[in-house]
Amino acid sequence: MPENSHWIVQLNYKNRTGSFALLFAAIAVHLSATDTGWLLWASLFLQFLVYPHVMYQRAVRSGRPLFTELNSLLLDGLLFGIWIGLLGFPLWISYTMVIGVTINLMVFRGPMGFFQAALALAIGVLIVYLAGGAHLTPHHSWLADLLCMLGLTLYLMMVGNVAFSRNLRIRETREQLRASESALQDANHALQQQLTEINLLQQQLRDQADRDPLTGAYNRRYLDVSIARDLAYCARHQLPLALILIDIDHFKAVNDQYGHQAGDLVLTALADLLSLHSRASDLVCRFGGEEFLVALPNTDLATATQRAEQYRCALAAIRLDWQGIQLSSSISLGVAGFPDHGHDMEGLLRSADLALYRAKHQGRNRVEVFAAS
Ligand code: GH3
Ligand code: MG
Ligand code: MG
Repeated sequence: MPENSHWIVQLNYKNRTGSFALLFAAIAVHLSATDTGWLLWASLFLQFLVYPHVMYQRAVRSGRPLFTELNSLLLDGLLFGIWIGLLGFPLWISYTMVIGVTINLMVFRGPMGFFQAALALAIGVLIVYLAGGAHLTPHHSWLADLLCMLGLTLYLMMVGNVAFSRNLRIRETREQLRASESALQDANHALQQQLTEINLLQQQLRDQADRDPLTGAYNRRYLDVSIARDLAYCARHQLPLALILIDIDHFKAVNDQYGHQAGDLVLTALADLLSLHSRASDLVCRFGGEEFLVALPNTDLATATQRAEQYRCALAAIRLDWQGIQLSSSISLGVAGFPDHGHDMEGLLRSADLALYRAKHQGRNRVEVFAAS
């Protein structure tokens, strides 16, 4: 709290110097009407004109300025008690001192400040009383009273002004706080949006890593991971699994006759068709150049064969428009099933490949199921 204590110390210094000077004048007026010894005049000078500067230096040099300053306020109360007792309780001077010390302490310590001020003042009076210097001569002069009133008025105006400017600062700080809170919310919102975009991009990247860029079908890398998992699952639950290996017939001729891009069109159309005629749990993969593999978990051989036939008919029925020319294609398909035709990926693939080879050998554009013979 050094910054806080600093402004309090500064404020109290100004306040103490000014009000003590006015009190000095009031008491000097008061004393000049009586027969006063030089000791009291010297004390008056030290107390009201020197003391404020000493207290300020003490607070500034202290390691805990605020704590020292609050102690100084208590000392003010004690010394005022002594002066009130010594002067014989002159009405306005006493009142000014009492109210000044009380308000000062209450500003910093709340209701507790009231009791501390009362105690400090009472001890001061008691000291004078015990030293035999207490007497009651509450006579007063109008000039001294006027100076006290002026001092009190200035003091209260100062308190009001400080309260006002502190309030203003609190309000400004609160507004700044609200503004930075809303800026923080905006930044948070933007961050959330960026996070969503990053997640989306990451998902896209993952997808790209798993898929063939031309056809959008899954790639071999993904197939290897995925089929191992599917096979393990089917083996554990004693479920069938089928593979359909697909190869485009005379595809080289398409490339040769119409160009590579026409071949790409056929590849893409076949991939779309395979996806369209498959379930979500099936895996459509581009296996090689113009070869595709569909893995069908929990599918028996008969169903897989029907599906293969469906693929074949669907492609045969399609005419692809290539620069005004209607392209048609056919596929040959080999089907193999787990567990009858293989217990692992390698064995199953070999069986599907053999079935495909037979389909090609028997004239293409047909479905063959693996047979041991
Ligand atoms: P078969 O009926 O015996 O399968 O004859 P095929 O002509 O289909 O077989 P072959 O293996 O001789 O030819 C496959 C062709 O596929 C050769 C290759 O240039 C082509 N190919 C491989 N990948 C792509 C590709 O991404 N795009 C295109 N357009 N062609 C491809
Ligand atoms: Mg081939
Ligand atoms: Mg081919």
